[in-house]
Amino acid sequence: MNGTPDAVVVGAGPNGLAAALRLAAAGLSVRVVEAASRVGGGMRTEELTLPGYRHDVCSTVHPMGAASPFFREFDLATRGVRLLHPEVAYAHPFDGGRAALALPSLTETADRLGPDGAGYRRLFGPLLKRSDEIIDYFFRSAFRRLPTRAVPSVAAFGLQALPSVGWLTRRYFESDEARALLAGAAAHGMLELTRPVTAGLGLILGMAVHDRGWPLIEGGSQALADAMVTALEQQGGEVVTDHLVTDLREFDGVPAVLLDTTPGAFVAMAGNAVPAGYRRWVQRYRHGAGIFKIDWALSEPVPWTNPDVRRAGTVHVAGSFAETVEGEAAAGAGRVPDKPYVLAVQPTVVDPTRAPAGGHVFWAYVHVPHGSTVDMTEVVERQIERFAPGFRDTIIARHTMNSAEVEAHDLNNVGGNIANGDPSLWQMLARPVPRWNTYRTPVTGRYLASAATPPGPAVHGMCGDNAARVALRDVFGIRQAPALRPAPPV
Ligand SMILES: Cc1cc2nc3c(=O)[nH]c(=O)nc-3n(C[C@H](O)[C@H](O)[C@H](O)COP(=O)(O)OP(=O)(O)OC[C@H]3O[C@@H](n4cnc5c(N)ncnc54)[C@H](O)[C@@H]3O)c2cc1C
Repeated sequence: MNGTPDAVVVGAGPNGLAAALRLAAAGLSVRVVEAASRVGGGMRTEELTLPGYRHDVCSTVHPMGAASPFFREFDLATRGVRLLHPEVAYAHPFDGGRAALALPSLTETADRLGPDGAGYRRLFGPLLKRSDEIIDYFFRSAFRRLPTRAVPSVAAFGLQALPSVGWLTRRYFESDEARALLAGAAAHGMLELTRPVTAGLGLILGMAVHDRGWPLIEGGSQALADAMVTALEQQGGEVVTDHLVTDLREFDGVPAVLLDTTPGAFVAMAGNAVPAGYRRWVQRYRHGAGIFKIDWALSEPVPWTNPDVRRAGTVHVAGSFAETVEGEAAAGAGRVPDKPYVLAVQPTVVDPTRAPAGGHVFWAYVHVPHGSTVDMTEVVERQIERFAPGFRDTIIARHTMNSAEVEAHDLNNVGGNIANGDPSLWQMLARPVPRWNTYRTPVTGRYLASAATPPGPAVHGMCGDNAARVALRDVFGIRQAPALRPAPPV
């Protein structure tokens, strides 16, 4: 591409690439500039431990990607991206060899919960009947428009979603198994589980299990990033890597610039162009708890005591409901938990291509105080060993990242926070600053497009897609966003 493009996107994460694809679909010339040497942001896959062992450095499991209207339209199958569904979406093991399982079938999941099966059906049954309306509203809510027919569905969901997950589980369940099963999903939000909206996180992720599933991507999440770049290049777009943007004046003359960055990075790049009021709101925006992550190369699958846990894509390693709540409370209060909530993923359960024959990849992270550099390896491995004795004997190699290293891998992970800002009630209502349209910034033609905007974290591309629609309307006068271009015939 020669000369000045119509639009520049800063950052080649899922949101940046989604924004670029929507803009390119309108026939605009689009350039993506990326600080790292590889595209993908939170979708990169690397040989972190040993040759032939392919580890997702960040995202691996894609309930939000499978549900996302953007990726449904992008049509992963026609782009050569294969979604693989584990038999057990996620498992939650307990002492003594018991485990609660989230299975694709609502009925089978409920049947395994004994007396709490009825509560599980009562909770998820009605939501699943309305899942399309609820999920579409969740993804597009920032536009503050709700089709009349969707009002009852969204209102019913909202009433259950606003409280804490502790409140919700007390209302529906008696047993530790059922309560921990839901709390384990809610804990993905990196918030203390006694806080408002944690119920909503548990419900969205719980509903996704029985709706479009919790799939992984064959070969690793990088395959999705690469497919998005290929699609962009097929339309004449270009991606420039190893290019850290520090000053937006670099793009003077470019009609639209979309930022897949933190709000803080945008304000720093925009300098005096940003009014003091907006700058103050951004300074108040909270990037809370960080993570400590370990990737392992294993000689065998993890030897979970409960054989059903060996079939799960994701495992919430935390013990009882009370321990799950306490583990998250410690991280939220700035303490290093002794028995943490460990979020573990075992990709080779469904995808043998990620390791040489007989080998396995496995990862886990724990939530830790913002910016923590404490080495959590011993604590994490002890917690896994508690439910999988002999685990340590299967380890061939490991790679660790503390919060500072998680940020070094991707500038958007400030202090190791992988959500680009806490998904707390306030920060979900006004993400990242209280404005009617939070993609628009006070600088003409400059838009925020990252997970710091609605609908927030995870690989779904919807922050970028929504931001691109606003830019198309404001800058180019295109009120009806064009459909994505289909993959060319093979
Ligand atoms: C360890 C870990 C595990 C995760 N697991 C999952 C999971 O299983 N499923 C899931 O859905 N989500 C998961 N996530 C979250 C998910 O990866 C993010 O929510 C998602 O990637 C956010 O997308 P994004 O496009 O907003 O930002 P990012 O993916 O962070 O991409 C932003 C890009 O912008 C670039 N950039 C930033 N600033 C600049 C600059 N100034 N100049 C140039 N380039 C810049 C960065 O280098 C980066 O490539 C995980 C995250 C982590 C860290």
